[in-house]
Amino acid sequence: MTDAYERLTASLASADPEIERLIDDEGRRQSEKIRLIASENYVSQSVLEATGSILTNKYSEGYAGKRYYEGQQYIDEIEELAIARAKDLFGADHANVQPYSGSPANLAVYMALANPGDTIMGMGLPMGGHLTHGWKVSATGKWFNAVHYGVEKETGRIDMNEVAELAKEHRPKIIFCGGTAIPRTVDFPAFAEIARETGSVLIADIAHIAGLVAGGAHPSPFGHAEVVTTTTHKTLRGPRGAMIMCDDDHAKAIDKAVFPGLQGGPHNHTTAAIAVALREAAHESFGDYAHQIVKNAKALAQALKTRGYDLVSGGTDNHLILIDLTNKGIGGKPAAKALDQAGIELNFNTVPFDQRKPFDPSGLRIGTAAVTTRGMVEKDMELVADWINRTVEACKSDKADEYPVIAGEIKDFVAKYPIPGWPTS
Ligand SMILES: *Cc1c(COP(=O)(O)O)cnc(C)c1O
Repeated sequence: MTDAYERLTASLASADPEIERLIDDEGRRQSEKIRLIASENYVSQSVLEATGSILTNKYSEGYAGKRYYEGQQYIDEIEELAIARAKDLFGADHANVQPYSGSPANLAVYMALANPGDTIMGMGLPMGGHLTHGWKVSATGKWFNAVHYGVEKETGRIDMNEVAELAKEHRPKIIFCGGTAIPRTVDFPAFAEIARETGSVLIADIAHIAGLVAGGAHPSPFGHAEVVTTTTHKTLRGPRGAMIMCDDDHAKAIDKAVFPGLQGGPHNHTTAAIAVALREAAHESFGDYAHQIVKNAKALAQALKTRGYDLVSGGTDNHLILIDLTNKGIGGKPAAKALDQAGIELNFNTVPFDQRKPFDPSGLRIGTAAVTTRGMVEKDMELVADWINRTVEACKSDKADEYPVIAGEIKDFVAKYPIPGWPTS
């Protein structure tokens, strides 16, 4: 074991061996598998250290210079650094780094810009949107009158005509663009034009693609969307958290909605870790990382297509691939479970116009952010596609004894690609 890992867990090992053992098991699981979950990544040792720091002890309701508790000399500096780095990296007028996660960040946007009962618009969940874009089981779907757009059946791409027509008909207060299962570039200028025509505020939710935007591998929403929300833990590779960035015009309303509107004290350890991640993302090498994520996704998409896999929209422009397994004669759920046993973690997912039920849909969602962090490149994607294909074929013909064989090959392979914060042997 490395010194760093021992330092982090030395006291835990004696004080709470049960939890220590479970963290240990989870670390081994994370390091021995191929992580293809599109929303996940591996943070750096520095981000881990900030996340696990004594900053967790401090209460800081309010904002720098206007707190409700004393002793903020250093916390104010930390939060101001995080804000300055976010504004610099993305070119934003204003940044709020306090939202606890992506869902509360989006809720703060509703609180700032709409009233319960107002009409809002977003991409439907089964089409690739997020729960918080007004889906009916979410508070945002219960408290607002949500209208949903989707993708074109033939192309699998966002139906911009539908977006324009629905916006004209319903005149939503706010329009969300972005989502959780969109393999193609989001056309921010086109959304902005529609929002301008209907007097709606455009919100770009870049939770999935923030790292690509920061690294120049996806067009930026800034200059098009008045408000941008993002998680910090997906392609951006920071701690679990979120940010809201916006024009100066919306700054006051957004800040008031986060605190005191929705939250109490910010999680200062997370704020510090966000600052660290933003510094990492400003480094030249992060641009290389972001572009490599996309190169890997394109290589993996091509390798899957060669093996007869049907991809929603026919491929990818970003980190994400959505496989439609219909032509393979197997559901997404059994395939995902088989793949997990074979050492590849991903998630089953609905595909647009899915004929199957949401809890047993037709698709698999894949992302390349985490494997790219480990240092894998295009040629490795050929191997990954092969392992996926072998497992799916084994699952179809009920050959479960093939899974541990594949898991063993993968374990040997990934040993060359260590994960930060975890011992290599
Ligand atoms: C992940 C995600 C969120 C929510 O983030 P949580 O941190 O899980 O609450 C919101 N919007 C989009 C588009 C996402 O992908």
